[in-house]
Amino acid sequence: MTFVDHWIDGRRVAGDGSRAGDVYNPATGEVIRQVSFSTAAEITHAVDAATEAFASWSRATIATRTKIMFSFRDLVDHHRNELAAVITEEHGKTTADALGEVQRGLEVVEFACGLGHLLKGDYSEGVSTGVDSYSIRQPLGVVCGITPFNFPVMVPMWMLPVAIACGNCFILKPSEKDPSASNLLAELFTQAGLPKGVFNVVHGDRVAVDALLEHPGIAAVSSVGSTPVARHIYETAAAAGKRVQALGGAKNHMVVMPDADMDAAADAMVGAAYGSAGERCMAISAVVAVGDAGDRLIPLVQDKVRALKVAHGDDPDADMGPLISGPHRDKVLSFVEAGLAEGADLAIDGRELASTDGGFFLGPCLFDRVTPQMSVYREEIFGPVLSVIRSDSLDDALGIISSNPYGNGTAIFTNDGGIARRFQSEVDVGMVGINVPIPVPMAFFSFGGWKASLFGDAHVHGTDGIRFYTRTKVVTARWPERSAGAELHFPS
Ligand code: NAD
Repeated sequence: MTFVDHWIDGRRVAGDGSRAGDVYNPATGEVIRQVSFSTAAEITHAVDAATEAFASWSRATIATRTKIMFSFRDLVDHHRNELAAVITEEHGKTTADALGEVQRGLEVVEFACGLGHLLKGDYSEGVSTGVDSYSIRQPLGVVCGITPFNFPVMVPMWMLPVAIACGNCFILKPSEKDPSASNLLAELFTQAGLPKGVFNVVHGDRVAVDALLEHPGIAAVSSVGSTPVARHIYETAAAAGKRVQALGGAKNHMVVMPDADMDAAADAMVGAAYGSAGERCMAISAVVAVGDAGDRLIPLVQDKVRALKVAHGDDPDADMGPLISGPHRDKVLSFVEAGLAEGADLAIDGRELASTDGGFFLGPCLFDRVTPQMSVYREEIFGPVLSVIRSDSLDDALGIISSNPYGNGTAIFTNDGGIARRFQSEVDVGMVGINVPIPVPMAFFSFGGWKASLFGDAHVHGTDGIRFYTRTKVVTARWPERSAGAELHFPS
């Protein structure tokens, strides 16, 4: 059995053998390799390597850093099929979906290629007689990223190109469920000319995470995962004096108004609920159908779902692959059973596909006439289960969304500009789509939710990313021709 090793100081480093985990191919249910789990000593090794590299990387010229970022961009572009194949093998999503994920990650590298512009400070001449003031952005030091299983390339790429372009050294702790893509990114960064120690990968579970959160050599933590883990990371790292952004889970609502184009809305529901088997933090998991929209949507969605092919992700005709693991598939199934027990109508039953070929499959499930009290609505299921709630009005729909603890993404489908405008203004959610079901912001905007979907005050990438990975220093300078003597009053 091959091992996925750590990547520290520019090379593969085998784990010390004390702890490891199995990596599955979710489409077959087989263990395909093992991944080393870091100990606290191995985390210290990575922090030491990154700290040593920071001394020169933080002083590398903008031209040098830009050149490496452009080379990395070209290499990721060139190796996109290889990256997508690794994603599909370990995560299970379809090849087309995996390629889309690589593309969205690549766009953040392209954003970071503009670091010369992004890191510019401000300059004010003559703030007082003979005095100029200017601000400069400096890197923080060694920073780390803790990432989830559902986007093994895109989510690390939300963080590391921006952090590294800003002059930091980065330690990535990817999900132990699909760890291989991170090592491929490390190899590409090395080929791009990134000095050793600037980007490191440490594999593992909560032991590795806690060692990172408590290590005094780490200045900032970016993390993406479920809400309980995000809260733990935020509280632990902040208590240790670190800057933290911790993105959490989600329950994303799509409101369909009676005036919407129902066929387009049904297509959006199917794509946004069942794409990637519903394992997306921006997946639509609740549709709030206003007025008669529900009666018109349900038959359309039933027809569209009948045409979907659930298969191995590398099948070119597959629309949807398996879930990440057997235990996760069983947990999702238990929500389907709870929904039935609580009285929701199962309009599409995907359970007959629960165990194709030993893989972790579950077909698309659609519940109608769900109420906000039901567990199928309250919990983040993170699987191909969509709930439809019937509602009387936009006010009612806004009330449902605002009572929900999560605030990651939401969408409205309508042809009425006034309704859309009111929705974008009043909804308390961080990312809003208008006739766009998965409104993931482009790399030059920042990605992040509200409420229990994000702990911390900075979103990822875009301008928030630059602010998060730098600290500002303001210089007040005077070059006097001749000293006018000591001044004892407060400068004004
Ligand atoms: P997870 O919370 O189980 O794991 C996330 C990371 O934290 C992994 O690296 C994991 O090893 C580590 N971890 C797990 N348990 C831990 C613990 N007790 N202490 C410390 N570290 C721990 O999440 P997951 O199952 O890998 O990913 C799915 C979740 O991520 C979903 O809730 C999804 O909504 C969320 N997610 C959110 C966003 C977003 O942008 N808000 C994006 C992607 C995924």
